[in-house]
Amino acid sequence: MSSQDKNANNAILSLLRMALFCTCPKCHQGKIFQDGFLKFDLKEKCDQCGLDLSRSDSADGPAVFLIFFLGFLLVPLALIVEVKFGWPVWVHVLVWGSFGLILTLGALKPIKSFVIALQYKYRKSDWDDNPPPRV
Ligand SMILES: [Zn+2]
Repeated sequence: MSSQDKNANNAILSLLRMALFCTCPKCHQGKIFQDGFLKFDLKEKCDQCGLDLSRSDSADGPAVFLIFFLGFLLVPLALIVEVKFGWPVWVHVLVWGSFGLILTLGALKPIKSFVIALQYKYRKSDWDDNPPPRV
């Protein structure tokens, strides 16, 4: 494995670590979300380095990604379970609804952190006071 491959792997691992622990893309230490399990709002600034988190713009990307991912995961599972076991509809609603809700609540912050880390890595000019003009 060349050193270029190792650097690429380290960069990917660093992004995934930031996403998993929801830490600041600049200092990798400060938490970027407000305290609370069901609070998905970002802090205004990083506690550790002062990075202005209001300039991040993940928009609806993390939610759309989750909708597609969970749709592709849960719908085939529900269909397989229906064909194999023939559960009543109310059991499907209870099981897959709960499963989807838990996965959504658990994965939304890490995915949003990942999108913000990607934005910081590949579009750092969003944090410049005088960004270059976009083409
Ligand atoms: Zn920071």
